[in-house]
Amino acid sequence: MAFSVRALIADDDKASAKLVEVLLKKWGIEVVVAHDGLEALEYIMQFDPPSLLLLDWEMPGYNGIELCQKVRKNDMKNPPYIIICTARDSAEHIAEGLNQGANDFVTKPFNTQVLKARVEVGCRTLKLQARLVEAMTRLDRLASFDELTGLLNRRALFERVHEDLSRAMRTESRLCFAVCDIDWFKRINDKYGHPAGDAILRQLGALLSQQLRLYDRVGRIGGEEFFLLFSVKDIVRANKVLERIRQEIEKCRFEFEGKVIPVTMSFGAAFVTPDDKVERVEVYFSHADKALYRSKERGRNLVTFFNDCV
Ligand SMILES: [Mg+2]
Repeated sequence: MAFSVRALIADDDKASAKLVEVLLKKWGIEVVVAHDGLEALEYIMQFDPPSLLLLDWEMPGYNGIELCQKVRKNDMKNPPYIIICTARDSAEHIAEGLNQGANDFVTKPFNTQVLKARVEVGCRTLKLQARLVEAMTRLDRLASFDELTGLLNRRALFERVHEDLSRAMRTESRLCFAVCDIDWFKRINDKYGHPAGDAILRQLGALLSQQLRLYDRVGRIGGEEFFLLFSVKDIVRANKVLERIRQEIEKCRFEFEGKVIPVTMSFGAAFVTPDDKVERVEVYFSHADKALYRSKERGRNLVTFFNDCV
């Protein structure tokens, strides 16, 4: 993707602003212009603000340094590159501007060559920053989502579920924790091959997501094991939801390279009420796990609640 920079020129001297505007456009940079600090701040606060700011030091409304302070006060993921334009070029002024968050200075009246070089440094820095932000976003995704199914992975799931649980305890709502596991998954892999197994995992991930509401949780906790968390009034309704999902999977046609593969899942669930006073996610996971084990023992393709195991 081509990298493009949009610049804001803020200068109350209209002739000076026009000069810089013409030059920047000639150098292939998109430009917006403001003639006082308030107007400049409006551009800076936009949803998709300009990334290169050329701010005049002396301006009505807010001056360039005040604007710098306002920008730097926010902890931005992708902060703008700020060049202060001023006739004040004493060592103290330069130090003050940099200390307030400016990246660079250019002295007025402008020397075209120097301005061009400074702007180019800004563009290079912004390009580097954009690549860094992109890489960090990608890493964030990789750290939180399971690559195969696109669902939350175990680590991200535990974090979120912990928050869900604390909230449920505070608001006195009821939750159902469920783990589900594909029956005889090893046999499927052995008989149809691992690509078939992967295709089933992907299809199941999508199916499970469809079955729950947006604000419920679905994740893959590893191997052929998935996790579901949803709020529900009582255990009877929780059982209905899981039974419906179990039947949907049973009915679903899993096909790989022309072969139809029968797939079922076993479920283990723990129903959480505020009276439990247990706030540790691990406890409910282990309850759901025990119930899942019982479903496997009882013949698979079943839903079992922890209450029925004790
Ligand atoms: Mg001025």
